[in-house]
Amino acid sequence: MQIWHATKDINQLSKCFTNLPRPHPPFKITLLDGILQQSEKALIPKGLLGMEEMVLWAGYPLASEILITSVLMPRTDSDAGHITLPKDEQAHVIEELITLGQLLFADAHTHPGNIPLSIADRIHPVGRTQGFLTVIVPYYCQRGMTLGNCQFWQVNHNSWLEMQPTEKREQIKIISAEEALKCL
Ligand SMILES: [Zn+2]
Repeated sequence: MQIWHATKDINQLSKCFTNLPRPHPPFKITLLDGILQQSEKALIPKGLLGMEEMVLWAGYPLASEILITSVLMPRTDSDAGHITLPKDEQAHVIEELITLGQLLFADAHTHPGNIPLSIADRIHPVGRTQGFLTVIVPYYCQRGMTLGNCQFWQVNHNSWLEMQPTEKREQIKIISAEEALKCL
């Protein structure tokens, strides 16, 4: 499994943030610059073949915010309308997260067209902890991946709620790695 970090100083972030508790929603979602671009790059190739693809977003919890620093690109089984993470790959993901001292905050996966969270997504989500996010990237990511064109679904007391455009604007931001390191 490939992992991409938005900063080469990931160990510095790891030292500061490991072991903080996962915040409860609503919380701010901060993506380090490059997370969307790297996810897009990983999602496009299978989309070109008319198949779904998935990446995972991991990082560190803050008091009332999550900091997404890393894109995990696991091996997936997928077809035109379904995607799963094989059991052995799930184990690799957990091992990597432990090594990095990170938490898994979101999966981002493609859908054909602009289809919302499916029944399969709700029955077998990648995560179901309070506040976990599923980001749906429309049109197999062939039209790119932006905060505006993706749907952000969040678990709240076992229900999946889609973040509305205003909530996305107020709660999600992108900052540079330098900016994140300066805040330490
Ligand atoms: Zn789906």
